Amino acid sequence: MTQDTWGRVQSDLEREIGTNNFATWIEPLKFDSVDNGVARFEAPTSFVGTWVRQNYGDRILRHLLRNGVDVNRIEFDIAAPLPRSVRAVEPEVHKDADPFSAGSSLDSRLTFDSFVVGKPNELAHAAARRVAEGGPVSFNPLFLYGGVGLGKTHLMHAIAWEAQARNPGLKVLYLSAEQFMYRFVKALRDRDTMSFKELFRSVDILMVDDVQFIAGKDSTQDEFFHTFNALIDQQKQIILSGDRAPVDIDGLEERIRSRLQRGLVVDLHPTDYELRLGILQQKLDEHLAMGEQIVIADGVLEFLAMRITSNVRVLEGALTRLFAFGSLVRREITLEAAQECLADILRASERKVTVDEIMRKVSEHYNVRIADLLGPKRTRTIARPRQVAMYLAKTMTQRSLPEIGRRFGGRDHTTVIHAVRKITSLQDTDQRIAEDVTILRRALEG
Ligand code: ADP
Ligand code: MG
Repeated sequence: MTQDTWGRVQSDLEREIGTNNFATWIEPLKFDSVDNGVARFEAPTSFVGTWVRQNYGDRILRHLLRNGVDVNRIEFDIAAPLPRSVRAVEPEVHKDADPFSAGSSLDSRLTFDSFVVGKPNELAHAAARRVAEGGPVSFNPLFLYGGVGLGKTHLMHAIAWEAQARNPGLKVLYLSAEQFMYRFVKALRDRDTMSFKELFRSVDILMVDDVQFIAGKDSTQDEFFHTFNALIDQQKQIILSGDRAPVDIDGLEERIRSRLQRGLVVDLHPTDYELRLGILQQKLDEHLAMGEQIVIADGVLEFLAMRITSNVRVLEGALTRLFAFGSLVRREITLEAAQECLADILRASERKVTVDEIMRKVSEHYNVRIADLLGPKRTRTIARPRQVAMYLAKTMTQRSLPEIGRRFGGRDHTTVIHAVRKITSLQDTDQRIAEDVTILRRALEG
């Protein structure tokens, strides 16, 4: 069977089972091969594989046969964990075609009401509230920065909604730096920079999201700078976001940088457990309010808040998948079921410890140089830390014994085996070593 045939079978299936079921169950399958009457597919998790076999197996087989494929059985393999699978569950980013009809590009879900406040974002939230309230412009510009998925865009939309609710006549313009540049380049091309300038200089609140994007793009920066100054001079509010602090954005013009720093620069810190749990609870309520149904066992949200630490978008994706699962199984979602259903997301969220990190932490902990860990010295003060490092490399990473040997100055794999045995047994007899290992392990697990 060719990919083409599989494409046809997919279309037939989509027509029969509907777009939603298709997107949830069939689309994630990757056709692998047909051999000896066995059609093989790769499923993203064993849960998906099992579900599809039980619920759609016969149907898929029928359609394969109908399309001339010689099969009598379907098998599912589980895909190797790919970060891609996490991206696949992210909700779509809302991008509006026309950012200029004020308000139309705003996502109605992104309000202060739906924003969960915790320690990591309380300052950014307070500043955003303050700016949204209007009055004498105190923080201008307000610059929000932080890593992906920490709520920068959410806060900007929330400010826009709030400001407009308080003052319906207000002209609020929200757009990404990318859109700003696109508009500018287009204006240049159309020889119509006048209306570009007029438009941008006539707003009451200008919000530009992800400004790091314009770094290094000289004429855009130039125009941005002039727009920026014109608005500030008119005491109009400007709100910007970036993935890092202005001082850390490479390729940003000095005059822009220093202008930004004259406003208020606040960062959103990485989420902590409490905030993640709060967000999960909030999102759960949102789903329920929309009439979706689910019963989640005690401890499941706590487990997700503990394990999915990367970004809020991934957390949301996990919950969306649980709802899909829940609507199909129609029984309580236990911790085991959740783990199974979200196996790929959980795997991708695991913090991967590297041999380099292990060497660094061990060298700091014992106050020995990394070069010595790798070098030939065999004195106890060097040899023991080296053995601990090898032991951690073996137990905390997927590296093989020969690989670890190579990384530690080209040592033989038998040396690594010896180190692992030694440290394993010492942990029972030597309190100090046991403590060292515990401390290091904790530090590495972050
Ligand atoms: P950023 O712009 O910083 O990359 P977003 O604002 O797009 O992040 O947030 C990503 C997703 O996470 C959005 O769906 C947003 O609603 C949600 N989110 C982030 N932080 C919070 C929060 N504190 N409370 C509720 N939802 C949040
Ligand atoms: Mg954003």
